[in-house]
Amino acid sequence: MQCLVMNFGHTGRAWNAWKLTKYLKSKGLNQRFFNASKSARASDYELSPLLEITGLNRKPSSLEDFELLYTLTKEKCLSKKLPKNVNSRGVFVCNELDLSEVEVYGFDYDYTLACYKPCLHDLLYNLGRDMLIKKLKYPDAIAKLEYIPGFAVRGLHYDIEKGLLLKLDSFLQIQLGSVYRGLTKVPDQEVLKCYKNRILPIAYVEGQSKNHQVILTFIAANKMFPLIALFSFKPNIKAKMVQLADLFSVPEMCLLCNVAEYFEKNHIDYHPEIMFYDIKSAVQACHPIMHQIVMKDAEAYIEKNENLPKYFEKLLQSGKKLFLVTNSPYSFVNRGMTLLAGNNWREYFDVIIVQARKPKFFTDESRPIRLYDERNDSHVWDRVTRLEKGQIYYEGTVKQLQDLTGWRGHCVLYFGDHPYSDLADVTLEHGWRTGAIISELTHEINTLNNQEFKMSANWLQMLTQLIEENQDNELEPAKLCLQKWMQERDKLRNDTKTVFNEQFGSVFRTYHNPTYFSRRLFRFADIYMSDITNLLNYSISHTFYPRRGVMPHEYISYFM
Ligand SMILES: [Mg+2]
Repeated sequence: MQCLVMNFGHTGRAWNAWKLTKYLKSKGLNQRFFNASKSARASDYELSPLLEITGLNRKPSSLEDFELLYTLTKEKCLSKKLPKNVNSRGVFVCNELDLSEVEVYGFDYDYTLACYKPCLHDLLYNLGRDMLIKKLKYPDAIAKLEYIPGFAVRGLHYDIEKGLLLKLDSFLQIQLGSVYRGLTKVPDQEVLKCYKNRILPIAYVEGQSKNHQVILTFIAANKMFPLIALFSFKPNIKAKMVQLADLFSVPEMCLLCNVAEYFEKNHIDYHPEIMFYDIKSAVQACHPIMHQIVMKDAEAYIEKNENLPKYFEKLLQSGKKLFLVTNSPYSFVNRGMTLLAGNNWREYFDVIIVQARKPKFFTDESRPIRLYDERNDSHVWDRVTRLEKGQIYYEGTVKQLQDLTGWRGHCVLYFGDHPYSDLADVTLEHGWRTGAIISELTHEINTLNNQEFKMSANWLQMLTQLIEENQDNELEPAKLCLQKWMQERDKLRNDTKTVFNEQFGSVFRTYHNPTYFSRRLFRFADIYMSDITNLLNYSISHTFYPRRGVMPHEYISYFM
């Protein structure tokens, strides 16, 4: 007999398997057990993987055994070759994309073509703070509160009811240790008391579901079905959370936390929701002022990118059409694009639409597209019946853009930095292909490439496996060691988190899970990269293939 396939029940499974293994070994047989039960674990049916790979070919029982197993596991980990560095100028793939099918390339402007220097955050923060004091009569003492670079990261949620800034993972779980009231970390116990759970209900985070909105739209359009209205009616559930998903919101988050900290420290009563909307409107009202300042000294605020015209040239030489859809005003875009792509930058684009008011541009059914008269800085009232190269348009809808150009579906690839307002609707409603520009990738990948980080991440995986394989051991030495290992694991988890950002960790991960932000990003973006010109490293007919990801049921070892 070379192989024995068995299915032990839940009860006594592990013990029976262990006894049988010993018995078969004593008989010199090559045994292998498979347990078809859904809850079966590797340690239930064979000598645990760690016992095998460390060479400790017996079940540990004494303190010395467990300590030896730990040492051998660590030695094994140290002997592993570290993974190669990831190219921070790479293009990363969520969904297969064949560029030879793409005929039209569309671009957002802010943080997609124009990437800003960190000083823009200081500028926006200062303008918003001064606006709060001057227009909204917030205390003058706030003027002393400076911008804190690196305090917040993109993708965080702000609870407008409780006044907390926090990070959620893709399962809507709060990442404990990353919840802040003002600049002060809220203890885990207080967070759990506050929410009564670590997992938040979807309506709390996102409000009423889109399906429910569809039902209500259907009801509104079908007045002949009052019964449906009667049975389908539910109170309008408003989300209690706001996600701060673009880079312009990073200084906004810092201002929010600075002001809340000031109120808390000085025992001044405030309403978190009022404060949130005040700060939001103050920062947004500052955008036109920010535009004027940046236009006066664009070099000081915009990162130069010599590869950008090269990329446009490459696309045009291959017969591709290019268009620009941005929410920013023409004068601001013109100044930045002149810096980035020269005085004749408009010649690269077949269609230029400014002040598009995304996401409405992608969702509104009808809103006329209008012509902008650059010379007189005025809006022309004529009906627009065709889109001409060299003209500047504003407002309108994606429907008009598609109808007037004939550009549709998978032939269009649109790039933006905002996973929702740039990418979600064009993917879900119009079947466009999408690319996300996520500038944080440079810092994230450089951190991943750090040798010390790689070592810690590897050891975290193996230590977790060591804990998992021994967690059910009732022996006293096992319990003692498990306690120590758990403490070490907690520290490692924290170290590998704070290396990205002291307060909130990585934009993409909450420990082992993807963040809420990255779940959306991976859903709405076919490809993503740190900079649009990373695409210069690939041919115009390149097919991006996604990696075959490992599913939970496809592997045993934690260590890949
Ligand atoms: Mg943008």
